Amino acid sequence: MKTCIKCNQELEESNFYTKGGKNKDKGYQSKCKICFNDNTKLYNIQNNIQIKKYLNNYYINNKEKIDTANINNYLQEDKIHLIQ
Ligand SMILES: [Zn+2]
Repeated sequence: MKTCIKCNQELEESNFYTKGGKNKDKGYQSKCKICFNDNTKLYNIQNNIQIKKYLNNYYINNKEKIDTANINNYLQEDKIHLIQ
């Protein structure tokens, strides 16, 4: 039996994922499968939020560059029109 550090439930070892590596036979994750999966889900959600934030920032930054470029092009075209 092994106690999960997250939910503090005493569970059979079969409820725990084994750790990878050389000590595969001895090592179990300190969290039970349910808690481990919850953590993974949470990690994925946080990761997705970060990815979305990153993409959003990238888009905003890119958009500003494009807008500025467009304004500059417009102004230059306007100047050309004025000269002509
Ligand atoms: Zn647990």
